Amino acid sequence: MFQPAKRCKLIQLSEIRKMFELVAEDAINLSLGEPDFDTPLNIREAVKVALDSGFTHYTPNKGIIELREAISCKLEDENKINADPESIIVTVGASEALHISIQALINSGDEVLIPDPGFISYDPCVKLAEGKIVPLELHEENEFRMTADDVIDTITDKTKAIILNSPANPTGSVMQKEDIKGIAEIAEDNNIYLISDEIYEKIIYEGKHYSPGRYTDNAITINGFSKTYAMTGFRIGYVAAKPELIEEMLKVHQYNAACASSLSQIAGLEALTGPQECVGEMLNEFKRRRDLVVKRLNQMEITFKAPEGAFYVFPKVENSMEFVNKAINKGVIIVNGAGFGKCGEGHFRISYAASYEKLTEAMDRLDSINI
Ligand code: PMP
Repeated sequence: MFQPAKRCKLIQLSEIRKMFELVAEDAINLSLGEPDFDTPLNIREAVKVALDSGFTHYTPNKGIIELREAISCKLEDENKINADPESIIVTVGASEALHISIQALINSGDEVLIPDPGFISYDPCVKLAEGKIVPLELHEENEFRMTADDVIDTITDKTKAIILNSPANPTGSVMQKEDIKGIAEIAEDNNIYLISDEIYEKIIYEGKHYSPGRYTDNAITINGFSKTYAMTGFRIGYVAAKPELIEEMLKVHQYNAACASSLSQIAGLEALTGPQECVGEMLNEFKRRRDLVVKRLNQMEITFKAPEGAFYVFPKVENSMEFVNKAINKGVIIVNGAGFGKCGEGHFRISYAASYEKLTEAMDRLDSINI
């Protein structure tokens, strides 16, 4: 009888993907964290040129130097992080960056604080490394923000790392500067690493993004191109950390992916060094959609916190599973909050990365549900 490795039995396939596969073709899918925009033309053109010139071979394991230099400049200018190109690895999406960070850091039994509710990959990534998950409970009363006080109350002498995600999936909350700074100090004082997932950095409507990496060398900064430049299919992201950590991560990356796709690296380079208008245009459209969803949810008298960033809203209903099932029956796919952790129970997540027209129709359908 087939016996898979025990580590695989510790984790399950994503509920979000499973639901997506179940639904009818004409359903409106508000379950995926995927911008519906086309990748900007200049990026696609740069890839075509690279393809025609035969840029189809392996690249250095850490990624092409031009891209790492561009990332290094971006981190310095925008995030106030000092990371030279040798301290950066270009990865297969932010997903791989998360995986290699955790693989390089976590031993069996090490405690890792993960936001609850939080992005669905954190829990399985830690489990695959045999780490011990410690949910850091985020509360609606506090707009689902992670605070330095929450961290102080939850760390122990076994805490090895804390995962931060601001702006956050699934809540759209944005952490405040003093908390980022405070958590960076806690990390320094207690020799804890901060794995900072900054994939929604540019999708922010209120507040400002601060990277923990500007305050501490214990930060591992993870970012990517999927959300900011509508490049999910390119599978390209990066991680920056102090050199000794990067060298360990590189081993995992080298034997896992070897390098990110050469053409996707060209796409990433053009994204960072080409015109940036597309970022603002997409942000404006996300904001328009957010305002629509907020207005409609208010009219439906559903309780929720208006998201300050990312493209999700995380409302509360009495029986969220029942609500999600009713929505699916009406042809709107949304995700039950429990999938994001215990504190997500009684909530559901709407991704408003779909078109305005689809969102309008979806909100009409949700409005017709009796709750
Ligand atoms: N982090 C968060 C919080 C996300 O929501 C996602 C994508 N849903 C990722 C990381 C992964 O992004 P990528 O496409 O770059 O792997």
